[in-house]
Amino acid sequence: MVIVAGTMLALTQAAQGEDQKPAAPPESRSLDLTAIDKTADPCTDFYQYACGNWNKSNPIPSDQVRWARSFTVVNERNRYLLWKELDAAAKDPKTPLQKQFGDFYASCMNTDVVEKKGLTPIEPAFKAIAGLAETKQLATLVSGLENHGTPYGLFNFGVGVDEKDATKQIAEVFQGGLSLPDRDYYIVDSAHFKEIRAQFVEHMKKMFALAGDTPEQAANEAAAVLEIETAMAKAATSRTELRQPENRYHIYTVVDFEKLDPQFDWGTYFSSIGIGHFDTLNVATPNFFKTLDGLIAGEPVAAWKSYLRWHVLHGQAENLPKAFFDENFNFFSKTLAGQEVPEARWKQCSSMTDDALGEAVGQDWVKEYFPPQAKASMDKLVAALEKSLGDDIKTLPWMSDDTKKAAEEKLALIRNKIGYPEKWRDYSSVIVNRNDLIENEHHAAVYENRYQLAKLGKPVDEKEWGMTPPTVNAYYSPSFNDINFPAGILQPPFFDFKIDPAVNFGGIGVVIGHEMTHGFDDQGSKFDGHGNLREWQTAEDRKNFTARTECVANEYSGFEAAPAVGDAAAVHLNGHLTLGENTADNGGLRIAFMALQDTLAAEGKTLSEKIDGFTEAQRYFLGFAQVWCQNQTDAESRRRALIDPHSPGNWRVNGSVQNFDEFGKAFGCTKGQPMVPVNSCRVW
Ligand SMILES: [Zn+2]
Repeated sequence: MVIVAGTMLALTQAAQGEDQKPAAPPESRSLDLTAIDKTADPCTDFYQYACGNWNKSNPIPSDQVRWARSFTVVNERNRYLLWKELDAAAKDPKTPLQKQFGDFYASCMNTDVVEKKGLTPIEPAFKAIAGLAETKQLATLVSGLENHGTPYGLFNFGVGVDEKDATKQIAEVFQGGLSLPDRDYYIVDSAHFKEIRAQFVEHMKKMFALAGDTPEQAANEAAAVLEIETAMAKAATSRTELRQPENRYHIYTVVDFEKLDPQFDWGTYFSSIGIGHFDTLNVATPNFFKTLDGLIAGEPVAAWKSYLRWHVLHGQAENLPKAFFDENFNFFSKTLAGQEVPEARWKQCSSMTDDALGEAVGQDWVKEYFPPQAKASMDKLVAALEKSLGDDIKTLPWMSDDTKKAAEEKLALIRNKIGYPEKWRDYSSVIVNRNDLIENEHHAAVYENRYQLAKLGKPVDEKEWGMTPPTVNAYYSPSFNDINFPAGILQPPFFDFKIDPAVNFGGIGVVIGHEMTHGFDDQGSKFDGHGNLREWQTAEDRKNFTARTECVANEYSGFEAAPAVGDAAAVHLNGHLTLGENTADNGGLRIAFMALQDTLAAEGKTLSEKIDGFTEAQRYFLGFAQVWCQNQTDAESRRRALIDPHSPGNWRVNGSVQNFDEFGKAFGCTKGQPMVPVNSCRVW
């Protein structure tokens, strides 16, 4: 649903590279004609044409795994501006809020204290785990860890919107418990993944040894963790299957759920974690819990102790002394993603503070960096895109009038959230200690957990945001039926007051159209305008819709995501995992173009007028493509091909323009050239 996958878990947390000094990154520009590779033919490879020079002169910095002209470059700048605010608040806070997030940031920056404390902050958790006498006590043990904000693996429990009744918030339990990025890492039988598993075991052995275990103990513990996680991976539902809402919606009574997994004392767990009473819950992945039951019955207590000890250590490795941090970095960031060095400490601590106290930090940030004109311009752009999606629906060749009416009703119900929340979250209960990073992380985790659990049975809060204000991203939520644009994305190269409309419609216009189209992709289209999982297409229209989405899935499955290297074969995109995002890119490109045409017509202009030698139509497509210029390590391309529902930049550009005939017209291409294939796909 989001436009790019979020900042990656383990990959960008607290680094120990203290000596790099913050410096202001340059402001991004909108359309950049020097980025163009004039030796490339736009009709053969438009991405190379639009981005070739930029890609050549912007290698990946050693502390990154992906360097993208828009997302990471803007993110670096937003984070620098955030750092200035945090650094000032840490030195001289002017308000209680500034004192709170300033102290949080300071606790992260103080690596001397982190070193001095050593493992002390996680010793209580280790002690509790050591006291586990039989597996019957697992529920008591893990609820205790949860109540202290300590990570422990196993599964994910929380409260979410009922997908069939979006007015209600219900208890939900999901699969979880893995350390590696995806179940495939455990189960695919290839030389490449076998090698990664061997390296994972070595990594665990080193971490256990750092924590004081003998080499024999460490080896036994690592073997136990791999055995348990492999069994969990085999029982897990794949990411692609989970995209289909019906595959993650299974309402159980608590009594029946307890019968599915009687080895774990769910009654004790529920009553210990401070959630209110409930009789039914969504068991998203029943097969996982059946397997977990067998694992609890079959694995010895010692294996569970190793498993939990590992997750306590692993989940907090980045906040521990340098030896732990470095070992964690070497495996999870370097081996798995190809990152050469950790990010500077100030970058990590800025991100960590934003993660923990985002809506506190964001209040000052938006005052400074989100002018009222930005909001007013966005309102106008969103209205223009809504109109063109409506026009597009009216003229769709494959849809019956009844379904068109239902689609228009859904479109009319989409709500827009722009910039930042109307009402900020209250963090006053989060106690921050300037000298204890792990304790602060625990307090933030407990706060977040209680905040989520307190939603049980309450009406849905439509004004709530799922991203913090400085975030460079956007999202659509099917249950809320809303599109959300944090202040962080509303700036160049996405959006610029000073530039011609073609470039803005190619940038933020396509992003807005992308989020709206999510309401009508393979997943979003299964929800109605009120956010309920309910079919609103006729059977015949659904059949036509699926034939068209399958066309897109097949097309993108043909695209190579990472080349063959050594033992590892070339990897192709998973057309079904990326189907929603690709459908949204295709729809976004079409409807933003229609909105641009309307806007120009209203001003008495046409698409063929030229600025700097390019027509408005060409500038639109260039503006769109240059959002996606990027370099990425091969390891990261490989990792993302398995887990990221978004295609990489080159296919987001070339895949979309290949399906839109206005592109060929704008650049004078002939049918049959690579960017104007004879057969193309269209959903919306
Ligand atoms: Zn998206």
